[in-house]
Amino acid sequence: MITQGVQVTSTCAACAGVLVRDVGQFIERGEVRWGVEGRCQECPAGWCETGTGPAPQEVRQALLAEHGAARLRLAGTRGSLVPVLRALREINGLSLGEARLAAADLSGEGLIGTLVEMTLLAQGLERRSVTTTLVTSPD
Ligand SMILES: [Zn+2]
Repeated sequence: MITQGVQVTSTCAACAGVLVRDVGQFIERGEVRWGVEGRCQECPAGWCETGTGPAPQEVRQALLAEHGAARLRLAGTRGSLVPVLRALREINGLSLGEARLAAADLSGEGLIGTLVEMTLLAQGLERRSVTTTLVTSPD
């Protein structure tokens, strides 16, 4: 299973103690899911939040800061972009215009995202016989 997580500490709003948040993204049943689980080390404060689809910026930024971004590119010869556009629209819920821009990134510099997001997209493209290369950059 492709999953990525990071632990973020901050100050507890209730007692000013150390608040630890486990932030993560993973793939479940063909969708990107995200979760945040927070707990205070000094008082009973704690919560858990999960969701499907685009993760909150807080989650994405924490993962990108810890693990770096992943860059997905189309590999090989330039074939038809139709299956690429279909995959982008289906997996990322993009409009046709947005999908065209993302497809241009995929066939050029590469599309940037978290490892989990780009892995799901790579899997969707693979199902449509589109080969990609996924590179993670430390920065
Ligand atoms: Zn607390």
